[in-house]
Amino acid sequence: MQSVLLTNNIGKYTMSTKKAFVPLIELLEANKDKKVSEILDQAKALTDAKTGGGGRSADNVLRNDKGEVTHIFCYYHKMWESVTDVEFGKKASSPTGLSNMCKEGTASWTKQQRDAKTARDKLLKDVAAGEVKPSEIGTRTEEIEKARQEIIPRKDKKGTKNKPKTA
Ligand SMILES: [Zn+2]
Repeated sequence: MQSVLLTNNIGKYTMSTKKAFVPLIELLEANKDKKVSEILDQAKALTDAKTGGGGRSADNVLRNDKGEVTHIFCYYHKMWESVTDVEFGKKASSPTGLSNMCKEGTASWTKQQRDAKTARDKLLKDVAAGEVKPSEIGTRTEEIEKARQEIIPRKDKKGTKNKPKTA
């Protein structure tokens, strides 16, 4: 039992490692004629455990057999979103070249961060002006935080909770 489990884990590990190298191979293929020093930084970024194909972000990305990104686990909506159905902004520093939030999610996130800041500033002013009792700060702050962290679903309801199967 123990050995079967171990074998399975090794199998998984090897598969995911190979997949993780796909972006690096793509980079090398695309820059065959360049000097290593010219693409070293990009290669490092791709293999970095924190940002690269083998790290955390690999768990948030689904690629097809060709290594092309098909789905991203949207950091805002907490849903698997197809990159062909849903618009993602470009982000050069990301291993996928795309943002980890869809455009609609990014817009909601940005607005909620800004609204929360405005609300916190107003709360402080209201407390200073005696319009809000200091004892209410806790409850008010909680309300502001709740609104900031709320996930507003996509209008078109696209995305799935479960990771889709590779196409
Ligand atoms: Zn999204």
